[in-house]
Amino acid sequence: MAAESQGEPGRRAELAASLEQVRGRIDAACTAAGRAPGEVRLLAVTKTFPASDAALLSDLGLTDLAENRDQEAAPKAAEVAELRPEAAVRWHMVGRLQRNKAKSVAGWASEVQSVDSERLAEALAKAVRGAQDAGTRSEPLDVLLQASLDTAEDAQRRGGCPLEELPQLADAIARSGEALRLRGVMAVAPLDADPEPAFARLAEAHARVRSDHPDAVELSAGMSGDLEAAVAHGSTCVRVGTALLGGRGLASP
Ligand SMILES: *Cc1c(COP(=O)(O)O)cnc(C)c1O
Repeated sequence: MAAESQGEPGRRAELAASLEQVRGRIDAACTAAGRAPGEVRLLAVTKTFPASDAALLSDLGLTDLAENRDQEAAPKAAEVAELRPEAAVRWHMVGRLQRNKAKSVAGWASEVQSVDSERLAEALAKAVRGAQDAGTRSEPLDVLLQASLDTAEDAQRRGGCPLEELPQLADAIARSGEALRLRGVMAVAPLDADPEPAFARLAEAHARVRSDHPDAVELSAGMSGDLEAAVAHGSTCVRVGTALLGGRGLASP
């Protein structure tokens, strides 16, 4: 792995350079859209990369980190906490999540961006209450509704709630008590399709959710390949892996 072959100083310089590039892209996209760069948060997606990389990113001031699998994230979050006990890292779950993982996720995540069903929301609320009762967690869990921009067939595989069902899911989360805090909407651009019209539909759906839930201000959209299009359509949070950390190879898309 790059981190070992180059040594830590080399990897730190590499990550600093790619971070500067990504921030430059976000700033340029904001300028093009007439938005202030401070409106867009950068989430570093550290999946498949070691805890040492996550620790270096936190040294560089990037403390919002994201993972897409509980099995990988739980030990990595613990390792980063050991490597950088002083760093105020917030972990975000952005991947498909089975209900039986809710308890584990409540142990490391500050936010889950991939809530796409009432049953999953219920499982997370229960897990958070359990952790709060046990004294292992004090904060509620921030949640984003994952919206699907895919065809029905792709949505089966990739997860996400149909856009027209988002208001109902948002209402259910708002009713579920104090354990979950509805913060907004997240989506991944469709496969093999222009992201622009998809992000435009997403922005409309987000506006509908926000009209009933004024605190649901976050719109998490945009990745390494399409962050400019997402920022043009109002994204407040881009999730970037490859452009920051490098390629992951074919096995882990
Ligand atoms: C992996 C992943 C990303 C980051 O993708 P890149 O193309 O590497 O920037 C963003 N969002 C989700 C949900 C992911 O799984």
